[in-house]
Amino acid sequence: MASVGLKGIKTIRDFELADKVVFLRLDLNVPLDHGKITDETRITASLPTINYALEKGAKLVLASHLGRPKGPGDKACSLEPVATRLSELIGKEVILLEEPSSEAIKPLLTGLRKNQVILLENLRFDPGETENSEELAESLASFTQIYINDAFGACHRAHASIDALPKLIKQKGIGFLIEKEIQMLDQLMDKPQRPYLAIMGGSKVSDKIGVIESFMDKVDGFIIGGAMAYTFLKAKGIPVGQSRVETDKLNYTREMIQRLEVRGKTLLLPVDHMVTSNIASNKATATKDNVIPENMMGVDIGPQTLKLYSSAILEAETLFWNGPMGIFENPAYATGTFGVAKAMADSKGMKIVGGGDSAAAAEASGYAGQMTHISTGGGASLEYLQGDRLPGLEVLRQKKQSEAVGSM
Ligand code: ADP
Ligand code: MG
Repeated sequence: MASVGLKGIKTIRDFELADKVVFLRLDLNVPLDHGKITDETRITASLPTINYALEKGAKLVLASHLGRPKGPGDKACSLEPVATRLSELIGKEVILLEEPSSEAIKPLLTGLRKNQVILLENLRFDPGETENSEELAESLASFTQIYINDAFGACHRAHASIDALPKLIKQKGIGFLIEKEIQMLDQLMDKPQRPYLAIMGGSKVSDKIGVIESFMDKVDGFIIGGAMAYTFLKAKGIPVGQSRVETDKLNYTREMIQRLEVRGKTLLLPVDHMVTSNIASNKATATKDNVIPENMMGVDIGPQTLKLYSSAILEAETLFWNGPMGIFENPAYATGTFGVAKAMADSKGMKIVGGGDSAAAAEASGYAGQMTHISTGGGASLEYLQGDRLPGLEVLRQKKQSEAVGSM
């Protein structure tokens, strides 16, 4: 099944932007630590579209969500640090507008100078954003001439700025980030080079069932690590000690192992582990085989497993990685995860990383620059890969005659 991709969706290149009010929905949802941005990937990923719109002379209104604010004035979720950093990066004044739906924006837009852009304060300060509210959408539409979505990480959510707003706007499309994300992910969906391996890990099988199901017929094999691996091993009757296991997924996993066998697909499971009796000890030892002693828990794949996985990775032509091999946030348990990142970096094939923690792991490994693509959208990329339609894209797809009711 080929993906529908970007069929019928316009891009920012298709519009005459000069002097138009362009509402640019971005994903500037960066991690903050006491008001300091700890990873600005999402800001830098948005720059090509912002800079393009500015070069073309658009009057730019930028908008994003950030975190999960407890109420309108939740300072911890303010976009203020983002406004400051963005201003440095684009070399223009970024005016942070406190109330996204405020009437104050219209006079501001009239007087907007070439060296100024507007950034709306956190859209989620208005509960209407997550409720996909008509009212909020109408208020935003009242000043928007062209709507551009470049918030890939938010495309799987039918929120007001993603869904209800573009429904009201005739001239609408995507920015460069979404275009690139979908083109990259489509290479995994349509005719990937073989062998094609999916490297899956992370904490839970249950999070990944949809992806595993959709990959079952596409990939030549799975490489399994992380806590997920213990559910697989336990399903095969191998002792896993105190390791995290999803007991309610054992039957599913057992059945999946059989289906993979019937289809002749490769399934690589750990042949040894890094284990500890006390997770806080920051010390782990390698097991001699795939059995985990009764009082121990697995925190990473072992050295033999890393060797096995690395050689499979080096032979693959297409790789998709989602889910760390161990508790990589702790440097003592990060060897397997970073080792897999290195093997991917060394591999000549196409290599795509998806998932929030996996992207962070790839960054932390130092090999991020050698990946073909690291998706900025965790949930969105997984939903897309499992064949789901993303609300944020579907609303932009122009069917026959546009049903939009027009804009100002
Ligand atoms: P992603 O965000 O890339 O989709 P997940 O959220 O599925 O990845 O999984 C990431 C989490 O899995 C990490 O926080 C990591 O600590 C955890 N994890 C990996 N291996 C283990 C393990 N052996 N035991 C417990 N947690 C693990
Ligand atoms: Mg995660």
